[in-house]
Formats: sequence, C-alpha cells, structure tokens
Amino acid sequence: MAFELLTPASMGFCQGVRRAIERVIQVSNERNGVQTLGALVHNRQVQRRLDENGVKVVDSVESITGDVVVISAHGVGPRVIEEIKSRNVGIIDTTCPYVSRAQQAASRLHQSGFYVVVFGDADHVEVKGILGWAAEQGIATLDVESLLQNVSLPRKIGIVSQTTQIPDRFAAFVASLVNSKLFKDAEVRIIDTICHDSRKRQAETLDMAGRCDLVFVIGGRHSANTRHLKELCGAVTETCLIETASEVFPSVLEGRQRVGVTAGASTDDDTINNVIKYLKELSG
Ligand code: SF4
Repeated sequence: MAFELLTPASMGFCQGVRRAIERVIQVSNERNGVQTLGALVHNRQVQRRLDENGVKVVDSVESITGDVVVISAHGVGPRVIEEIKSRNVGIIDTTCPYVSRAQQAASRLHQSGFYVVVFGDADHVEVKGILGWAAEQGIATLDVESLLQNVSLPRKIGIVSQTTQIPDRFAAFVASLVNSKLFKDAEVRIIDTICHDSRKRQAETLDMAGRCDLVFVIGGRHSANTRHLKELCGAVTETCLIETASEVFPSVLEGRQRVGVTAGASTDDDTINNVIKYLKELSG
C-alpha cells in the first residue's frame, strides 16, 4: 500500500509536561528516588519510564513516605498544599504556568464575590485543583442544561475553562448559558484560561486532519488533551486513538491516500517515532 504521511508542526510533550518530567527526573536522580502526588502525566508509557527512574506515584497525602513530594503539572488546590505542609513534607511544585494562571483566575473571581463555573471535566485532577482555588465555592461542568437544572446560580458568576478544552466549545458553553431563559439579571465575568500551547496544537491538528482520510492520535486514553484531539479530528475524518504502534492494524490503511499522525501533550517522542517508523514501513 502507498499513502502520504502527514504530521502537524507540533505534537507530543507540551512545554508544561516537558518541564515537569525534566524536573522530576532531576530530583529523583539527586535524591535517589522521589514520590509524586498522583500521576505526573496521564500516559502509561511515560509513567513506566518515570517508574524506572525511581519516580513513584502516591494517591493520597497520607501515603507520602518521603520528606518531599512532587505536585504534578495539573496542580492541586491550596487545601492539599496545607495538608502536605502540616506533615512537614517539602513540596516540589511542577504545576504548569498555564494551570497556575487558571487557578489564580478562579481565586480572583472567588475573592471578588463571584460563584465560579469551570468549563471542564469535574473528575479531572486539574479541574478539582482549580475549584480548590475558588475555596470550593463553584462547580465544574461541560453541560449548561444540567448546570441550570441542578444549581441555583447566584447573581455574580465567573466562568473559566479547564486548560485543555476546545476553544469553540468554551465559547458555545458561555453563549448557551447567557442565552438561557433560566439565566436572568446576572453579572458574568469570563476569563479565557485555555492553554495557548493546547490551542495552537488543536488548530494545527485540525488543519492536518482536514487533508487526511485517516488520522492516528497517539496518547493515553485517560489524557484529556489526547481525547480532545481525537474528538476534533473525528469531526472531520476517520480517527483512531492509539497508545502505541502495536495498535496500528495494517488493514485499516487499505486504500488510504493521506494518513495523519498527531499526539497528545503527554506522549513521549519514542512512542511517536515508533508509530511514524511503522507507518513508513507499511507505506513502502
Ligand atoms: S497542555 Fe498546556 S496547560 Fe496542560 S501541561 Fe501542557 S502547556 Fe500546561
């Protein structure tokens, strides 16, 4: 089979993830191992490599056994930080600057008397951390209808976004909320907290996908930004989310003219290069 292989200008580790991984490996080497509170990234291959470098994951503050712990690029709320400090455990903070910006936006809104609405996945660790900076005086949701039906919104509402959400969906969410009949006489403040890096990658990937008849999105199935890339590509062409080259089945490539490859922000270069190498072999 013969097909053209396309890739976007940027893919794989974003600035925030690269910075966090470099820092945690450096600390692990210096200290002969270190623990992170929660997974540093939502990618099994990367977590395995970190584990081999002495980086171990603990799921709760109570499980920390060392005298320092690493906070991941997704960040945490201030209550978690206080809890860690109260146990005399030092903090190595690798919170991504874009996530910090969203946390500070939520904190400012809360301090100015706004009820904070985070456009995002309520179960995601980054979103929980952002709400923590609003002193838990807010809610995270992706659905305007359920928000309006289940929450009695106060007059002052501040809206921010999970950093990796799709910008058009954030805009549609805000528009739908403001246009709702149930939404009256409110003062609304919107702060765009979508990550610049994520926005740029989404645009580049969408542009590429529009020229392909099949796209592989490489990344962890629990990675928010990987899933968003899949959704974006899936809206314009056939798209497969894969974690490694072993999930590329040659039969799916039959008759394809142009095949695109992109990767989530927590996907490492080796995994990406293996997929590209395999696809090149298959395309002859
Ligand atoms: S996707 Fe954006 S916000 Fe998330 S870690 Fe990367 S640079 Fe930071």
